[in-house]
Amino acid sequence: MTWIDEPLLREIEAELGDDGVWVAPELRAEVSPAQEARLEAAVAEASTPTYVALVELDHRDLTDGDPGQLAGMIRDDTDRSGIYVVPQPRISDEPYRLELVSYPKDDGLFTASAVAQAEHPDDLGAQTLRALELVESGDADRLYDEMNGTDTGTESGTGTVPAAPSDDAGAGTDVVGVLVAVVVVAVAVVIGVRRRRAPAALPTADGSPFTLPPAVLSTVRAAEDRRNEARAHADVLALGEAVDAAHLDPRRAASLPAWQAALDHYDVARRILDREHSPADAVGAIVLAGRGRAALDAAVRGRGWSPSPGCYLNPLHEGPVATAPWHDGATAVQVPACARCASALEAGREPADVLDFVADGRPTHYFHLDLGAWSRTGYGALDTDLLGRLLDRRG
Ligand SMILES: [Zn+2]
Repeated sequence: MTWIDEPLLREIEAELGDDGVWVAPELRAEVSPAQEARLEAAVAEASTPTYVALVELDHRDLTDGDPGQLAGMIRDDTDRSGIYVVPQPRISDEPYRLELVSYPKDDGLFTASAVAQAEHPDDLGAQTLRALELVESGDADRLYDEMNGTDTGTESGTGTVPAAPSDDAGAGTDVVGVLVAVVVVAVAVVIGVRRRRAPAALPTADGSPFTLPPAVLSTVRAAEDRRNEARAHADVLALGEAVDAAHLDPRRAASLPAWQAALDHYDVARRILDREHSPADAVGAIVLAGRGRAALDAAVRGRGWSPSPGCYLNPLHEGPVATAPWHDGATAVQVPACARCASALEAGREPADVLDFVADGRPTHYFHLDLGAWSRTGYGALDTDLLGRLLDRRG
Protein backbone atom coordinates (compact mmCIF):
# COMPACT_ATOMS: atom_id res chain seq x y z
CA MET A 1 0.00 0.00 0.00
CA THR A 2 1.40 3.34 -1.01
CA TRP A 3 0.62 6.17 1.33
CA ILE A 4 0.56 9.51 -0.35
CA ASP A 5 2.48 12.06 1.68
CA GLU A 6 4.00 15.37 0.57
CA PRO A 7 7.28 13.97 -0.81
CA LEU A 8 5.45 11.27 -2.77
CA LEU A 9 2.96 13.83 -4.06
CA ARG A 10 5.89 15.87 -5.43
CA GLU A 11 7.25 12.74 -7.07
CA ILE A 12 3.89 11.94 -8.68
CA GLU A 13 3.55 15.49 -9.92
CA ALA A 14 6.99 15.36 -11.48
CA GLU A 15 6.28 12.04 -13.17
CA LEU A 16 2.93 13.23 -14.50
CA GLY A 17 4.63 16.31 -15.89
CA ASP A 18 7.12 14.04 -17.59
CA ASP A 19 5.07 11.39 -19.38
CA GLY A 20 1.58 11.80 -17.92
CA VAL A 21 1.43 8.37 -16.26
CA TRP A 22 2.37 7.24 -12.76
CA VAL A 23 1.86 3.70 -11.53
CA ALA A 24 2.28 2.98 -7.82
CA PRO A 25 4.67 0.17 -6.90
CA GLU A 26 1.91 -2.03 -5.49
CA LEU A 27 0.04 -1.86 -8.80
CA ARG A 28 3.01 -2.82 -10.96
CA ALA A 29 1.76 -6.38 -10.93
CA GLU A 30 -1.64 -5.20 -12.22
CA VAL A 31 -0.39 -2.93 -14.97
CA SER A 32 2.16 -4.48 -17.30
CA PRO A 33 5.04 -2.46 -18.76
CA ALA A 34 3.40 -2.86 -22.17
CA GLN A 35 0.14 -1.43 -20.85
CA GLU A 36 1.99 1.43 -19.24
CA ALA A 37 3.72 2.18 -22.53
CA ARG A 38 0.36 2.17 -24.31
CA LEU A 39 -1.06 4.46 -21.64
CA GLU A 40 1.80 6.88 -22.14
CA ALA A 41 1.19 6.81 -25.89
CA ALA A 42 -2.55 7.39 -25.41
CA VAL A 43 -1.87 10.30 -23.07
CA ALA A 44 0.61 11.78 -25.53
CA GLU A 45 -2.00 11.67 -28.28
CA ALA A 46 -4.96 12.82 -26.21
CA SER A 47 -6.64 15.97 -27.43
CA THR A 48 -7.12 17.14 -23.82
CA PRO A 49 -4.13 17.08 -21.46
CA THR A 50 -4.54 13.86 -19.51
CA TYR A 51 -2.85 12.63 -16.34
CA VAL A 52 -3.08 9.05 -15.16
CA ALA A 53 -2.18 8.26 -11.54
CA LEU A 54 -2.79 4.60 -10.77
CA VAL A 55 -2.53 4.14 -7.04
CA GLU A 56 -4.57 2.54 -4.27
CA LEU A 57 -5.64 5.52 -2.24
CA ASP A 58 -6.12 5.18 1.48
CA HIS A 59 -8.47 7.29 3.51
CA ARG A 60 -5.72 7.75 6.08
CA ASP A 61 -3.33 9.37 3.65
CA LEU A 62 -3.18 12.90 2.33
CA THR A 63 -6.02 12.22 -0.12
CA ASP A 64 -8.57 10.93 2.41
CA GLY A 65 -9.02 8.10 -0.07
CA ASP A 66 -10.65 10.49 -2.51
CA PRO A 67 -9.49 10.48 -6.15
CA GLY A 68 -10.97 13.95 -6.57
CA GLN A 69 -8.84 15.22 -3.73
CA LEU A 70 -5.66 13.80 -5.24
CA ALA A 71 -6.52 15.36 -8.60
CA GLY A 72 -7.33 18.66 -6.92
CA MET A 73 -4.04 18.75 -5.02
CA ILE A 74 -1.99 17.99 -8.11
CA ARG A 75 -3.88 20.52 -10.11
CA ASP A 76 -3.49 23.19 -7.43
CA ASP A 77 0.24 22.50 -7.10
CA THR A 78 1.02 22.34 -10.80
CA ASP A 79 -1.69 24.47 -12.35
CA ARG A 80 -2.19 21.78 -15.00
CA SER A 81 -5.77 21.64 -16.21
CA GLY A 82 -7.10 18.64 -18.07
CA ILE A 83 -8.41 15.20 -17.23
CA TYR A 84 -7.12 13.27 -14.22
CA VAL A 85 -7.64 9.53 -14.12
CA VAL A 86 -7.40 7.93 -10.66
CA PRO A 87 -8.84 4.65 -9.35
CA GLN A 88 -11.34 4.77 -6.55
CA PRO A 89 -10.26 2.94 -3.41
CA ARG A 90 -11.53 -0.62 -3.40
CA ILE A 91 -12.05 -3.28 -0.80
CA SER A 92 -10.11 -6.51 -1.34
CA ASP A 93 -10.88 -7.83 -4.82
CA GLU A 94 -13.94 -5.87 -5.88
CA PRO A 95 -13.77 -4.55 -9.46
CA TYR A 96 -11.63 -1.56 -10.26
CA ARG A 97 -13.40 1.69 -10.93
CA LEU A 98 -11.77 4.81 -12.26
CA GLU A 99 -12.74 8.29 -11.39
CA LEU A 100 -12.24 10.81 -14.17
CA VAL A 101 -11.88 14.30 -12.81
CA SER A 102 -11.64 17.17 -15.19
CA TYR A 103 -10.68 20.82 -15.05
CA PRO A 104 -12.74 22.53 -16.22
CA LYS A 105 -15.60 20.37 -15.08
CA ASP A 106 -17.11 17.83 -17.46
CA ASP A 107 -19.80 15.49 -16.15
CA GLY A 108 -19.81 13.55 -19.40
CA LEU A 109 -16.80 11.54 -18.29
CA PHE A 110 -18.98 9.50 -15.95
CA THR A 111 -20.11 7.26 -18.78
CA ALA A 112 -16.54 6.62 -19.95
CA SER A 113 -15.60 5.38 -16.52
CA ALA A 114 -18.74 3.24 -16.21
CA VAL A 115 -18.33 1.60 -19.61
CA ALA A 116 -14.62 0.97 -19.11
CA GLN A 117 -15.36 -0.64 -15.76
CA ALA A 118 -18.07 -2.86 -17.20
CA GLU A 119 -15.76 -4.03 -19.99
CA HIS A 120 -12.64 -4.62 -17.90
CA PRO A 121 -13.67 -4.93 -14.25
CA ASP A 122 -10.56 -6.78 -13.10
CA ASP A 123 -7.87 -5.48 -15.40
CA LEU A 124 -6.81 -2.04 -14.25
CA GLY A 125 -4.43 -1.44 -17.15
CA ALA A 126 -7.00 -2.41 -19.78
CA GLN A 127 -9.74 -0.46 -18.02
CA THR A 128 -7.63 2.69 -17.95
CA LEU A 129 -6.68 2.35 -21.62
CA ARG A 130 -10.31 1.83 -22.53
CA ALA A 131 -11.39 4.87 -20.54
CA LEU A 132 -8.87 7.06 -22.36
CA GLU A 133 -10.04 5.62 -25.68
CA LEU A 134 -13.69 6.35 -24.83
CA VAL A 135 -12.93 9.91 -23.78
CA GLU A 136 -11.16 10.44 -27.09
CA SER A 137 -13.77 8.74 -29.30
CA GLY A 138 -16.83 10.17 -27.58
CA ASP A 139 -18.57 6.77 -27.82
CA ALA A 140 -19.12 6.39 -24.10
CA ASP A 141 -22.65 7.82 -23.87
CA ARG A 142 -23.97 5.56 -26.62
CA LEU A 143 -22.33 2.44 -25.16
CA TYR A 144 -23.52 3.34 -21.71
CA ASP A 145 -27.10 3.61 -22.96
CA GLU A 146 -26.79 0.27 -24.75
CA MET A 147 -25.33 -1.32 -21.66
CA ASN A 148 -28.25 -0.15 -19.58
CA GLY A 149 -30.88 -0.82 -22.20
CA THR A 150 -32.17 2.74 -22.25
CA ASP A 151 -32.54 2.88 -26.00
CA THR A 152 -33.83 -0.61 -26.69
CA GLY A 153 -37.33 -0.11 -25.41
CA THR A 154 -37.38 -3.73 -24.30
CA GLU A 155 -37.90 -5.24 -20.91
CA SER A 156 -34.56 -6.90 -20.96
CA GLY A 157 -34.45 -7.33 -17.25
CA THR A 158 -31.40 -5.17 -16.89
CA GLY A 159 -33.54 -2.22 -15.95
CA THR A 160 -33.04 1.29 -17.07
CA VAL A 161 -30.50 3.59 -15.65
CA PRO A 162 -30.74 7.28 -16.34
CA ALA A 163 -27.90 8.56 -18.41
CA ALA A 164 -25.03 10.51 -17.02
CA PRO A 165 -25.66 13.14 -14.42
CA SER A 166 -26.83 16.51 -15.50
CA ASP A 167 -26.42 18.19 -12.20
CA ASP A 168 -25.70 21.68 -11.06
CA ALA A 169 -28.38 23.91 -12.47
CA GLY A 170 -26.91 26.22 -9.88
CA ALA A 171 -27.39 24.21 -6.75
CA GLY A 172 -25.86 27.00 -4.79
CA THR A 173 -22.37 25.63 -5.10
CA ASP A 174 -19.53 27.81 -6.17
CA VAL A 175 -17.92 25.17 -8.25
CA VAL A 176 -14.29 25.58 -9.04
CA GLY A 177 -13.51 22.59 -11.16
CA VAL A 178 -15.76 20.28 -9.30
CA LEU A 179 -15.07 16.61 -9.58
CA VAL A 180 -17.39 14.01 -10.98
CA ALA A 181 -19.25 12.60 -8.03
CA VAL A 182 -19.55 9.12 -9.40
CA VAL A 183 -20.58 7.53 -6.16
CA VAL A 184 -23.27 10.02 -5.32
CA VAL A 185 -24.65 9.80 -8.80
CA ALA A 186 -24.72 6.03 -8.73
CA VAL A 187 -26.64 6.04 -5.48
CA ALA A 188 -29.10 8.57 -6.85
CA VAL A 189 -29.54 6.44 -9.93
CA VAL A 190 -30.43 3.40 -7.90
CA ILE A 191 -32.83 5.25 -5.69
CA GLY A 192 -34.55 6.30 -8.89
CA VAL A 193 -34.64 2.73 -10.12
CA ARG A 194 -35.96 1.44 -6.83
CA ARG A 195 -38.73 3.99 -6.71
CA ARG A 196 -39.94 3.37 -10.19
CA ARG A 197 -39.91 -0.35 -9.71
CA ALA A 198 -41.36 -0.28 -6.27
CA PRO A 199 -44.54 -2.26 -6.97
CA ALA A 200 -42.60 -5.11 -8.51
CA ALA A 201 -39.90 -4.78 -5.94
CA LEU A 202 -41.94 -5.85 -2.96
CA PRO A 203 -43.38 -9.13 -4.05
CA THR A 204 -44.00 -11.44 -1.13
CA ALA A 205 -42.51 -12.40 2.14
CA ASP A 206 -41.04 -15.49 0.57
CA GLY A 207 -40.82 -14.32 -3.02
CA SER A 208 -37.69 -13.68 -4.97
CA PRO A 209 -35.67 -10.78 -3.70
CA PHE A 210 -35.59 -7.59 -5.66
CA THR A 211 -32.50 -7.55 -7.83
CA LEU A 212 -30.77 -4.54 -9.21
CA PRO A 213 -28.91 -4.62 -12.50
CA PRO A 214 -25.58 -6.21 -11.56
CA ALA A 215 -23.44 -3.27 -12.64
CA VAL A 216 -25.53 -0.84 -10.63
CA LEU A 217 -25.74 -3.18 -7.68
CA SER A 218 -21.99 -3.57 -7.48
CA THR A 219 -21.43 0.16 -7.79
CA VAL A 220 -23.88 0.95 -5.03
CA ARG A 221 -22.61 -1.80 -2.78
CA ALA A 222 -19.06 -0.67 -3.38
CA ALA A 223 -20.01 2.87 -2.39
CA GLU A 224 -21.74 1.66 0.75
CA ASP A 225 -18.86 -0.61 1.60
CA ARG A 226 -16.44 2.25 1.17
CA ARG A 227 -18.52 4.43 3.45
CA ASN A 228 -18.60 1.75 6.11
CA GLU A 229 -14.90 1.11 5.70
CA ALA A 230 -14.08 4.79 6.12
CA ARG A 231 -16.39 5.09 9.09
CA ALA A 232 -14.89 1.99 10.73
CA HIS A 233 -11.41 3.43 10.53
CA ALA A 234 -12.56 6.82 11.77
CA ASP A 235 -14.55 5.34 14.68
CA VAL A 236 -11.75 3.04 15.79
CA LEU A 237 -9.19 5.81 15.52
CA ALA A 238 -11.42 8.13 17.55
CA LEU A 239 -11.88 5.44 20.20
CA GLY A 240 -8.11 4.99 20.45
CA GLU A 241 -7.64 8.72 20.87
CA ALA A 242 -10.40 8.89 23.48
CA VAL A 243 -8.79 6.03 25.40
CA ASP A 244 -5.44 7.84 25.32
CA ALA A 245 -7.01 11.08 26.48
CA ALA A 246 -9.19 9.58 29.20
CA HIS A 247 -8.32 9.99 32.84
CA LEU A 248 -9.13 7.09 35.03
CA ASP A 249 -9.57 7.64 38.73
CA PRO A 250 -7.80 4.66 40.34
CA ARG A 251 -9.92 4.99 43.47
CA ARG A 252 -12.96 4.01 41.49
CA ALA A 253 -12.19 0.34 41.25
CA ALA A 254 -15.72 -0.41 40.07
CA SER A 255 -14.89 1.11 36.72
CA LEU A 256 -11.80 -0.98 36.03
CA PRO A 257 -13.66 -3.73 34.14
CA ALA A 258 -15.33 -1.08 31.98
CA TRP A 259 -11.94 0.43 31.29
CA GLN A 260 -10.58 -2.99 30.34
CA ALA A 261 -13.60 -3.58 28.09
CA ALA A 262 -12.92 -0.31 26.27
CA LEU A 263 -9.31 -1.34 25.67
CA ASP A 264 -10.32 -4.84 24.54
CA HIS A 265 -12.93 -3.54 22.10
CA TYR A 266 -10.44 -1.10 20.69
CA ASP A 267 -7.80 -3.77 20.37
CA VAL A 268 -10.00 -6.28 18.56
CA ALA A 269 -11.52 -3.66 16.25
CA ARG A 270 -8.11 -2.37 15.31
CA ARG A 271 -6.81 -5.86 14.62
CA ILE A 272 -9.78 -6.57 12.37
CA LEU A 273 -9.12 -3.47 10.31
CA ASP A 274 -5.37 -4.06 10.19
CA ARG A 275 -5.70 -7.41 8.51
CA GLU A 276 -7.42 -8.33 5.27
CA HIS A 277 -11.12 -7.95 6.01
CA SER A 278 -14.56 -8.04 4.46
CA PRO A 279 -17.31 -5.41 4.33
CA ALA A 280 -19.05 -7.43 7.07
CA ASP A 281 -15.93 -7.07 9.23
CA ALA A 282 -15.91 -3.30 8.68
CA VAL A 283 -19.48 -3.12 9.99
CA GLY A 284 -18.36 -5.26 12.93
CA ALA A 285 -15.52 -2.87 13.67
CA ILE A 286 -18.02 0.00 13.76
CA VAL A 287 -20.13 -1.94 16.25
CA LEU A 288 -17.08 -2.77 18.40
CA ALA A 289 -15.91 0.83 18.36
CA GLY A 290 -19.37 1.97 19.49
CA ARG A 291 -19.34 -0.51 22.35
CA GLY A 292 -15.80 0.45 23.27
CA ARG A 293 -16.86 4.07 23.41
CA ALA A 294 -19.81 3.25 25.66
CA ALA A 295 -17.52 1.25 27.96
CA LEU A 296 -15.03 4.10 28.08
CA ASP A 297 -17.72 6.64 28.93
CA ALA A 298 -18.88 4.40 31.78
CA ALA A 299 -15.31 3.96 33.04
CA VAL A 300 -14.65 7.69 33.02
CA ARG A 301 -17.79 8.19 35.11
CA GLY A 302 -16.55 5.58 37.53
CA ARG A 303 -19.25 3.12 36.60
CA GLY A 304 -19.42 -0.45 35.46
CA TRP A 305 -20.51 -1.38 31.94
CA SER A 306 -22.11 -4.28 30.18
CA PRO A 307 -22.92 -4.44 26.48
CA SER A 308 -26.47 -3.85 25.35
CA PRO A 309 -27.98 -5.24 22.16
CA GLY A 310 -28.37 -3.16 19.03
CA CYS A 311 -30.94 -3.43 16.26
CA TYR A 312 -30.94 -7.00 14.94
CA LEU A 313 -32.07 -5.94 11.48
CA ASN A 314 -29.16 -3.58 11.02
CA PRO A 315 -26.47 -3.01 13.65
CA LEU A 316 -25.83 0.45 12.24
CA HIS A 317 -29.27 1.63 13.29
CA GLU A 318 -29.06 3.87 16.29
CA GLY A 319 -31.24 4.62 19.26
CA PRO A 320 -32.91 2.47 21.89
CA VAL A 321 -34.16 -0.99 20.98
CA ALA A 322 -37.32 -2.85 21.88
CA THR A 323 -38.28 -6.44 21.28
CA ALA A 324 -40.31 -7.02 18.12
CA PRO A 325 -41.57 -10.06 16.19
CA TRP A 326 -39.46 -11.09 13.21
CA HIS A 327 -40.88 -13.63 10.77
CA ASP A 328 -38.04 -15.18 8.89
CA GLY A 329 -39.50 -17.74 6.54
CA ALA A 330 -41.52 -20.11 8.66
CA THR A 331 -39.95 -19.16 11.95
CA ALA A 332 -41.07 -16.30 14.13
CA VAL A 333 -38.72 -14.95 16.75
CA GLN A 334 -38.54 -11.96 19.01
CA VAL A 335 -35.57 -9.77 18.22
CA PRO A 336 -34.26 -6.45 19.50
CA ALA A 337 -35.10 -3.76 16.98
CA CYS A 338 -34.71 0.00 16.75
CA ALA A 339 -37.85 2.13 16.83
CA ARG A 340 -38.25 2.30 13.05
CA CYS A 341 -37.63 -1.39 12.47
CA ALA A 342 -39.85 -2.30 15.41
CA SER A 343 -42.77 -0.33 14.06
CA ALA A 344 -42.34 -1.91 10.61
CA LEU A 345 -42.25 -5.37 12.17
CA GLU A 346 -45.28 -4.67 14.35
CA ALA A 347 -47.13 -3.65 11.20
CA GLY A 348 -46.11 -6.89 9.50
CA ARG A 349 -43.75 -5.20 7.08
CA GLU A 350 -40.11 -5.92 6.46
CA PRO A 351 -37.95 -2.97 7.55
CA ALA A 352 -36.60 -0.96 4.65
CA ASP A 353 -32.89 -1.26 5.13
CA VAL A 354 -31.98 -4.57 6.65
CA LEU A 355 -28.19 -4.93 6.50
CA ASP A 356 -27.36 -6.76 3.29
CA PHE A 357 -24.20 -7.98 1.67
CA VAL A 358 -23.90 -9.19 -1.89
CA ALA A 359 -23.72 -12.96 -2.20
CA ASP A 360 -23.91 -14.68 -5.58
CA GLY A 361 -24.64 -11.37 -7.18
CA ARG A 362 -27.67 -10.44 -5.13
CA PRO A 363 -28.15 -8.59 -1.87
CA THR A 364 -28.73 -11.02 0.97
CA HIS A 365 -29.67 -10.27 4.56
CA TYR A 366 -26.54 -10.57 6.63
CA PHE A 367 -28.08 -13.09 9.01
CA HIS A 368 -28.67 -15.48 6.13
CA LEU A 369 -24.97 -15.53 5.37
CA ASP A 370 -22.27 -17.33 7.27
CA LEU A 371 -20.33 -14.43 8.69
CA GLY A 372 -19.09 -16.19 11.80
CA ALA A 373 -19.74 -14.40 15.04
CA TRP A 374 -21.25 -11.43 13.20
CA SER A 375 -24.19 -13.40 11.82
CA ARG A 376 -24.45 -15.88 14.71
CA THR A 377 -24.86 -13.14 17.30
CA GLY A 378 -26.68 -10.66 15.05
CA TYR A 379 -23.72 -8.35 15.58
CA GLY A 380 -24.31 -8.69 19.30
CA ALA A 381 -28.10 -8.22 19.20
CA LEU A 382 -28.92 -11.85 20.07
CA ASP A 383 -25.84 -12.59 22.14
CA THR A 384 -24.58 -9.42 23.73
CA ASP A 385 -21.14 -10.87 24.42
CA LEU A 386 -20.02 -10.16 20.88
CA LEU A 387 -16.40 -9.72 21.88
CA GLY A 388 -16.39 -13.05 23.67
CA ARG A 389 -17.81 -14.83 20.63
CA LEU A 390 -15.24 -13.19 18.36
CA LEU A 391 -12.40 -14.25 20.61
CA ASP A 392 -13.83 -17.81 20.78
CA ARG A 393 -13.59 -17.97 17.05
CA ARG A 394 -10.02 -16.84 17.11
CA GLY A 395 -9.20 -19.56 19.59
ZN1 LIG B 1 -33.39 -1.02 12.91
